[in-house]
Amino acid sequence: MSLVARLVPLAGVLTASALLAGCGQLTDDGAADGRRAVASFYPLAWVTEQVAGDAWTVDNLTQPGKEPHDLELDIRQTAELDSADLVVLEEGFQPAVDATAADVDAPVLDAAQVVDLLPAADHEGESEEEHAEDGHDHEHGDTDPHFWLDPLRLADLADAVADQLAEIDPDGATTYAANAEAVRGELEQLDREYTDGLASCERTTTVVSHDAFSYLSRYGLDFEPIAGLSPDAEPTAADLARLQDLIRTDGVTTVFSERLVSAKMADTLADDLGVTSAVLDPIEGLSDATADEDYLSLMRENLTALQQANGCS
Ligand SMILES: [Zn+2]
Repeated sequence: MSLVARLVPLAGVLTASALLAGCGQLTDDGAADGRRAVASFYPLAWVTEQVAGDAWTVDNLTQPGKEPHDLELDIRQTAELDSADLVVLEEGFQPAVDATAADVDAPVLDAAQVVDLLPAADHEGESEEEHAEDGHDHEHGDTDPHFWLDPLRLADLADAVADQLAEIDPDGATTYAANAEAVRGELEQLDREYTDGLASCERTTTVVSHDAFSYLSRYGLDFEPIAGLSPDAEPTAADLARLQDLIRTDGVTTVFSERLVSAKMADTLADDLGVTSAVLDPIEGLSDATADEDYLSLMRENLTALQQANGCS
């Protein structure tokens, strides 16, 4: 961006900052001389923002409405990474980001290093042999990257972000620790809501579009994905036949799709079997439809959707 182009929006930010300075609600005052973190997709950006507070600007590399798994970086985003004071990413989730971050000067916080990741789930009826025969030996033996759907694991990332920020800016250490504790409090509350809300359900089998929800299994649900760990890992005819059987046998009422990828597969499956199709958001990113939401509100919407689908009281 040229200097002139940069000065114009900055003037607006400064005016807004001056107006807001009295009420302590500044969120955007880092633009001029504050520090800047770059997070590679939404849940990482959300946590980093909560912990970093007002003295930092947090940029999300994945634009709203974009599915983050297959993010490709343009020159501007590469420069953004290179000039950041901190990069927060999850190794293994976005290969293009991993490759670029390996060459940047900024300190990199890798969520996969600080959060206890689950192994990639092996789903019933899929054997290693079948996969080998089909020529896709994806994921097996790897870890499942979608840890943010477990509020307590996201709280662990908040703690790690606070530690990393304190290393970069020791003067702010107390603030970062306090912010991380506040986020942990909110996430533990959310965890209690899930535990209570899903404690008593008529059904546990939950059919979802891609294999993003295993971290919610500890609340007692069994997730059956139509696609693989990545939304573009398409199911085979045998996978679909097995799911149809399961939906009939277990009395599944709802097939869940998501917002950032096509709902076609989920809708077709639901139509064929005369069951409902509804949205369960893997919260990999925001979109136009969820621009006013945040991680916490989307998690609560997901909880309501899961309770409805599974007859939880
Ligand atoms: Zn995913």
